[in-house]
Amino acid sequence: MVTKKIINSKKVYITEKHHHNLIPWAQLRQGIKNNELLVLSLDHHTDIYVPFQRFAKDSQGNYDPQIAIVEINKMDFNNIKTIENAIPNLRNDEHIETALRADIIYKFFIIAYKYQNDQPLSNEQTKYTAAFSPQLGNFNTSIPIPIRPYTYPDADIYIPENNCFVGCPGPHVDRCVIPHFNQCIESIFLNDQLDIMGQMSPSLIKNGKFSNKYILDIDLDYFHTTQSIHPKNTDTFYRLIKNAEIITITKEADFIAMWREEHDSSLNVNDLVAEILIHIKNATT
Ligand SMILES: [Zn+2]
Repeated sequence: MVTKKIINSKKVYITEKHHHNLIPWAQLRQGIKNNELLVLSLDHHTDIYVPFQRFAKDSQGNYDPQIAIVEINKMDFNNIKTIENAIPNLRNDEHIETALRADIIYKFFIIAYKYQNDQPLSNEQTKYTAAFSPQLGNFNTSIPIPIRPYTYPDADIYIPENNCFVGCPGPHVDRCVIPHFNQCIESIFLNDQLDIMGQMSPSLIKNGKFSNKYILDIDLDYFHTTQSIHPKNTDTFYRLIKNAEIITITKEADFIAMWREEHDSSLNVNDLVAEILIHIKNATT
């Protein structure tokens, strides 16, 4: 289920499905006294479904949160067997809430596509929307349109807005899609996302750097084109690799196959794995 590699003393774990990463995350958690572990996840999707959503069904086939709680309570990060036993009953979009509730991970930061608004929404935007939001029937224009930096409520999962590539003059149209994908690990893009994350959680991210131990988690379906894994500027991506406690990489080959059909016929999951490992080697040499 998990392939381990050590590259210049950096521990790297490769899995087929995203929820399999709970195993290396739990192993790392064992060595940490208080739950302070963060995950920075690069992913096409946000994978924030409730734990055991498909498994925890009552006799009528409806989701039963009590069944899910029983399954969560069976998970003990100090006993990896209990984590392995949970994997077949989880799906590849339930691991984030599971890791939070099973006390493996403290907080998640996720860079994902198709996020038009920050999650959670900033206090300033919430206030503005409450006053002026025609689709909600609010027409009060007394509050000016907010501009960054924003302040945010506390949360377990932070996902910055990700509307287009940095530098897009707008409006965002079809021709934005590929340049947006191609910028996904460029420093200019990652710095922008880290800047928003720093506003979201100033105590955990300062000047683009994490204050706590963190896992760099890469779902390969974050890459939609071959060019996207060959950034011109690797400074930020390499810093994120270098400072990570461990790196977890998930193949999610079915999605790569979809992107190959939709976006780039040269895209290939084995090449993406090889390229990521080269980046890790270069970053840690
Ligand atoms: Zn655009």
